[in-house]
Amino acid sequence: MSLQNLLPTSVWSTLSRQEQSNALSRPAIEESGLLATQVENIINQVKEFGDKSLIDLTERFDGFKLESLKVSEQQIQSAISSLSSQRLAALETAYGQIKRFHQAQVNQDVEVETCKGVTCILKTEAIEAVGLYIPAGSAPLPSTVLMLGVPAEIAGCPRKVLVSPPDNKGNVAPEVLAAANLCGINEIYAVGGAQAIAALAIGTESIPAVNKVFGPGNRFVTEAKSQLSQQIPGFAIDMPAGPSEVLVIADNDANADFVAADLLSQAEHGEDSQVILLSDSKSMIERVRAALSCQLAALPRAKIAKAALSKSRLILTDSLDMAIEVSNLYGPEHLIVQTKNPDSLVGQLRNAGSIFLGAYTPESAGDYASGTNHVLPTYGYSKVVSSLSLADFSRRYTVQKITRQGLQNLAPCIIELTDAEGLMAHQKAVTIRLNSTDCEAS
Ligand code: NAD
Repeated sequence: MSLQNLLPTSVWSTLSRQEQSNALSRPAIEESGLLATQVENIINQVKEFGDKSLIDLTERFDGFKLESLKVSEQQIQSAISSLSSQRLAALETAYGQIKRFHQAQVNQDVEVETCKGVTCILKTEAIEAVGLYIPAGSAPLPSTVLMLGVPAEIAGCPRKVLVSPPDNKGNVAPEVLAAANLCGINEIYAVGGAQAIAALAIGTESIPAVNKVFGPGNRFVTEAKSQLSQQIPGFAIDMPAGPSEVLVIADNDANADFVAADLLSQAEHGEDSQVILLSDSKSMIERVRAALSCQLAALPRAKIAKAALSKSRLILTDSLDMAIEVSNLYGPEHLIVQTKNPDSLVGQLRNAGSIFLGAYTPESAGDYASGTNHVLPTYGYSKVVSSLSLADFSRRYTVQKITRQGLQNLAPCIIELTDAEGLMAHQKAVTIRLNSTDCEAS
């Protein structure tokens, strides 16, 4: 099918409300009923059969019967030594860039004397055990190891567990293992998909459960994260980071080849990726479609990209303001702005996981090496969920210390409010102290 048929232009202002909503619907969500059942079945198998189910499901979905789920130290070291020095240097450069941006996010404790004798402290503590999911179904993503491993390392999480599906020879990609090694991660299991998330949430004979799971993944992974975070008390997930999305806003002056390259860089991620172009210029849309055709032909992953393009959209808007409105409605994971003055639009672009401004800011830079995190909310969750950062790897809690004088200062307020709520035991806990001559200590 030609790209003209595969990717027709929609004129936003001529679409009905329903057509507009259809134009911005996510492909993966349409199949969610069947998906929920498939994932539920996988979770139940892991609950019942533990490691055996992980080995069986890995054989079924990844094509290899594993002897052991754990990747040995020797496998890690021989994978690292199999890599060229250029590849290792590139991993180290990306590691350094990501570390610089995330190190700057370290929080200081907050300590405030809110009134005389009343001290309140906000402290930060690393999460004890974190699970890092590294996708590898269609391509292993060592860049994701760095995006998860670097903040986990800076936060100081005592246990960092990495899971990733093996290839059909049973191996986790050497680049994934080398990136893990850079981040000080040595607990690695060759298992992926919904079953890996279930193992991390529930625990099996060889994989002790963790407190929180991080990382993107396909729809099976994302659905498992969502189901398990509701089922297992105390088990948390980072965010719904599902199939990748990019939305590009381009005006007539944008470089159509650059725009097409950015769209394809997301489309090649997976068949369920979605890419959207919004432009107030009909000619730009035509030029981008032509450039897509040209560049697609030369891509090794053209088949995947073409399938993703079939669910994607080229949308003509009446103005740039309308494009901004549509983008805010969609809430893309990645938003690329290739217009004359991209900086001037930033304040109006309310809903996006990560924004890339100007002709020389491809999304690939953020995906690999600029320093920002590439784990971002999808499915429109960018409207309410933040992009991944150091804060996600720790929890914040409060500490307080009050002197007798401090409690006296607070007492009238507490007594009045406990009266209002009728909670007399709460009131007594204050008055019993102030009426006591027992403990005069501060
Ligand atoms: P993956 O590791 O997420 O999934 C592969 C696993 O899926 C397999 O190991 C298998 O266990 C399971 N699976 C495959 N077919 C199945 C089936 N029919 N039934 C049950 N389980 C099945 O790797 P992937 O498939 O390459 O997906 C990676 C995803 O991550 C892509 O959609 C990509 O767009 C997304 N991504 C998102 C972000 C983000 O920040 N949002 C970043 C990077 C990648």
